[in-house]
Amino acid sequence: MKYSPLIDRHGRRINYVRLAVTDRCNLRCFYCMPEEGIQFLEKKSILTYEEMLRLLHVFKGIGVDKIRITGGEPFVRKDLIYFLKEVKKEIQPQEFAITTNATLTHLYMDDLPELFQTVNVSLDSLDAERFFKITRRDDFKKVFENIQELIRSGIQVKINAVVMNEKNIEDIISFVEWTRNENIEVRFIEEMPFNGTREKDKISDWNYVKILQHIQSKFKNITKIETPVSSTSMMYQVNGFTGKFGIIPAFSRTFCGTCNRIRITAKGELLTCLYSSSGTNLLQELRQNKSEEELEKIIRNAVLEKEKNGFEAAKKRNGFIPIYESMTTIGG
Ligand code: SAM
Ligand code: SF4
Repeated sequence: MKYSPLIDRHGRRINYVRLAVTDRCNLRCFYCMPEEGIQFLEKKSILTYEEMLRLLHVFKGIGVDKIRITGGEPFVRKDLIYFLKEVKKEIQPQEFAITTNATLTHLYMDDLPELFQTVNVSLDSLDAERFFKITRRDDFKKVFENIQELIRSGIQVKINAVVMNEKNIEDIISFVEWTRNENIEVRFIEEMPFNGTREKDKISDWNYVKILQHIQSKFKNITKIETPVSSTSMMYQVNGFTGKFGIIPAFSRTFCGTCNRIRITAKGELLTCLYSSSGTNLLQELRQNKSEEELEKIIRNAVLEKEKNGFEAAKKRNGFIPIYESMTTIGG
């Protein structure tokens, strides 16, 4: 198809959309949301499936070929599976992906292997008690079983583990050990200040350097693996192991120069950076019945203003203070 690609003023081509289909979740990961939850959006304030499909059509027309479904927990939104099938059939993205906490994937195993080659699962501990302390829900057994089921179905499973002081440092080595015989990718993520509270002092000091050094202190023969330039993850493999591990410097923000992504929040805001203060209200534009051409123009203008990096984006919002929103509204 002939199109003029989506490019920002720093010359980066945007071909990847992360779409949050809900802000609701059945877990309460402490780094993402307060225990009591957040003020969840009313149904009328979130994009309908039809509106999301319309947007995805527009994005497809301007060269977006990778779509990731995220949330909140995507599977808590009613009828998500039908929407996923529609996206696959109508949009046919080159890469179609989902990020889930895997509490509900067992309900959709008839469809998931056909829909996705890869599923990203958030799991921060391999110990049931620590899992409970982190997520405030007693779902470890179910999640672990569901992960095994996903692996057995032939889906490539990528585990996302946020690394946090006093919460799951003991798990780092166990996670790498898990890759010895299992063909999984475990990606350690630096914690970011998006927990829906203002407790910035409690953010973990486990940055990517410290995480790697910790792993190297136990595993001596580690090979770095080449990744696509737009990848946010530095990938490694312990020699002889089946799976791989990676580190995502989400807070150090070393990857912004090659960023190829934008985000659509559940309320239909286009965010040009994870650290952006606010976005472009696409829900309003959709409900004003804007044409595809008009929507495309609005999106192009928004993308043009994409911040050079996450530091600039955070600075722009409220002085030098980063943001303390919940990641469940942004989609990670
Ligand atoms: N509920 C799904 C899940 O947990 O996979 C999808 C949404 S979740 C907001 C997306 C990703 O954001 C997860 O991998 C989660 O670990 C990550 N995340 C949430 N809050 C974070 C934080 N404060 N710092 C780093 N990563 C965070
Ligand atoms: Fe829910 Fe995912 Fe946030 Fe955990 S990280 S509370 S699973 S949205």
